[in-house]
Amino acid sequence: MNQYSKETLCVHKGTIIDPEDEGANSPVYTSTSFGYLDKETPVYPRYFNTKNQKALAEKLRALENGESALALSSGMAAITSTLYAFLSQGDHIVFMSALYGGTLHFILKDLNRFGIEYTLVNSTHPEDFEQAIRENTRAIYIETPSNPLLRIIDLEEMARLAKSNNILSIIDNTFASPINQNPIDWWFDIVLHSATKYLNGHSDVTAGAVISTRDKINRIWETARNLGGSLNAQICHLLERSLKTLHIRVKTQNENALQIAQFLEDHRGIKKVWYPGLESHVGHATAKKQMKGFGGMLSFEPENKNIIELQKRLELIRPAVSLGGIDTTITSPVMTSHKSLSQEEREKQGISDSLLRLSVGIENPDDLIYDLKQALESL
Ligand SMILES: *Cc1c(COP(=O)(O)O)cnc(C)c1O
Repeated sequence: MNQYSKETLCVHKGTIIDPEDEGANSPVYTSTSFGYLDKETPVYPRYFNTKNQKALAEKLRALENGESALALSSGMAAITSTLYAFLSQGDHIVFMSALYGGTLHFILKDLNRFGIEYTLVNSTHPEDFEQAIRENTRAIYIETPSNPLLRIIDLEEMARLAKSNNILSIIDNTFASPINQNPIDWWFDIVLHSATKYLNGHSDVTAGAVISTRDKINRIWETARNLGGSLNAQICHLLERSLKTLHIRVKTQNENALQIAQFLEDHRGIKKVWYPGLESHVGHATAKKQMKGFGGMLSFEPENKNIIELQKRLELIRPAVSLGGIDTTITSPVMTSHKSLSQEEREKQGISDSLLRLSVGIENPDDLIYDLKQALESL
């Protein structure tokens, strides 16, 4: 069924059709205890083999053009299960340094404790990643677009670097969503998602996903079932339902974000805007090559440094953590995701104290622009 387009896969792929009733939606199977006689492998939720888990995983697999997928209980469950599946004591991994805060926290706090070495690379250029590769390096791990400056890495070049060194290429594709970017098409090995963000999109579910080849998913599954990050049937149902509108949500978010980015870029109260869809963005050409849309995330720096007051004056846009929902939210990375970094480290990454990050929703863009304009001009 992969010959169908993303719109169609969002709606139909994986749906369990009850043969008797022919209902539109997958039935929700709530059991956590299943029969075992005459069965080779019994069904059990922590084994990721219930019907609802498999229906959800099948939709995720198809959306990322992979062979197989697992749906997990959070983005971090997907990330940690994947890294622990492939890294052992004595191994080394190369990360981009501009990573999601939770991932960075896991790396800094836990990897060395288990004898796993790592290098953080503060760059988007494959040459700089190549320099960090050692004899015991097992994987390269990146995010593109990255948080919060939407830095862009060339997927094709990075995958080629990994293949030529015989190591895994892993990407957290949360910011792009599978509608805007499919890293497997550019030869990436493993794609991760926090489904809490765009995949669910309604700010009411925590979940994660990993998509790859059958062999690699099987290896991740062996670790994941030990770590225990499985989803129950009700959450699978909610996420499966949300995914049916993923395409239409992301398309609107792409369009709204571009309009807002253009408005902000032209506004005299704004110093700088970061959005991969703007020609002024350093990664624009690469983003244009590998993305089908530029996403719903953008960052900007107002001239007026009183960003707390600016956020308070917004009437529609909500100052809030997290992202990817249908409602537009605004965050100061320095006050939230990048709070634990030193001033020096933030400067190194180019994150200023007055930077603001917008997660654009599906409201009418004129209303969002009006709100930003009235807040900026009332300061
Ligand atoms: C939120 C997020 C995560 C972690 O996901 P959870 O569902 O909160 O565990 C990982 N990566 C990125 C890019 C995120 O935005």
